[in-house]
Amino acid sequence: MIPPAPLRLRIDLDALAANWRQLRALAGVDAGAAVKADGYGLGAKAVVERLYAEGCRTFYVSNWQEAAALAGHPPDLRVLVLHGIDAADLPAALSIDAEPVLISPEQVALWRAHGAGRRCDIMVDTGMNRLGFGWRGFCTEMFAGMDVNTVHTHLACADEPEHALNALQRDRFAQVVAALGVRGAIANTAGICLGRDYAFGHVRPGIGIYGGVAGMRQVVFPEARVIQCRDLPAGDASGYGATWTATRDSRLAVLNLGYADGYLRGFSDRGEAIVGGKRARVVGRVSMDMIIIDITDTPPVAPGEHVEIVYDLAEAAHLSGLSEYELLTGLGARYERIYT
Ligand SMILES: *Cc1c(COP(=O)(O)O)cnc(C)c1O
Repeated sequence: MIPPAPLRLRIDLDALAANWRQLRALAGVDAGAAVKADGYGLGAKAVVERLYAEGCRTFYVSNWQEAAALAGHPPDLRVLVLHGIDAADLPAALSIDAEPVLISPEQVALWRAHGAGRRCDIMVDTGMNRLGFGWRGFCTEMFAGMDVNTVHTHLACADEPEHALNALQRDRFAQVVAALGVRGAIANTAGICLGRDYAFGHVRPGIGIYGGVAGMRQVVFPEARVIQCRDLPAGDASGYGATWTATRDSRLAVLNLGYADGYLRGFSDRGEAIVGGKRARVVGRVSMDMIIIDITDTPPVAPGEHVEIVYDLAEAAHLSGLSEYELLTGLGARYERIYT
């Protein structure tokens, strides 16, 4: 018999759905969803299922293993592999109901040779110099006779609205889209927030769906279990390095949360939990598998009880120095993911 999971991750799928609808409305065009890295740590299958019910029909993963994990999805749903296709992915890829976003002439040759005329997307690089066909001298002949559904590019500086590269990439991309005559897509979450002239025909939000930008609802709520409570007199220290010293007689609770759960050292002496509706701060360093919180001023809590960890992404990012992306994808496998 497996004991109950001592760590929980409550995932508010209604908030997730509301965030996706809000981003789609902001863009005013068809919207997909990035679900790579197991749905940014939430569980890709559950995310896909819920967003499909909301009308989302295009989902982005990084590689064919992630695509295979979504097997059995409805036939009118497209799974797109952002890293494209490598020779090593064949032939397994051909048995997976997903399509590549082709990024290079080599990948086009591979897909022409093995894809049997199947549909694909393509990625064009317009200034980030990450993935895709270069925009300079972009040549549409390479794709003649191929079933290209959408052409993509990705913005390097979308989270800096004033950055000159945004408009430059948009204008370069507009030329590519016009030349190819297929649907264009440029915007991630931050790109959607730049305004409608970045919407083109389709958008690819990710982090915002999961609550990672201002104005979106919190989706993820970690809950840790109290392992032990202890009283200590003023002057005693707590944790590795004895970095925190009690300035008054105090009561502490030790929780089962640590590095493997994405709760990294930056939360030391800064992170917070919610005990009986009151904030309780982390005191001392995060240990590998534990944190210690100060419950002197909170309602009582006992070993075995669960307390919520403050994980509003903007606030947690500010406290820990981690990005919203790291906060989500680092959550780890020890949580029982509970969808509500
Ligand atoms: C991950 C990814 C997205 C989503 O980006 P967010 O910043 O999470 O909204 C969109 N497009 C591409 C190509 C991506 O790799």
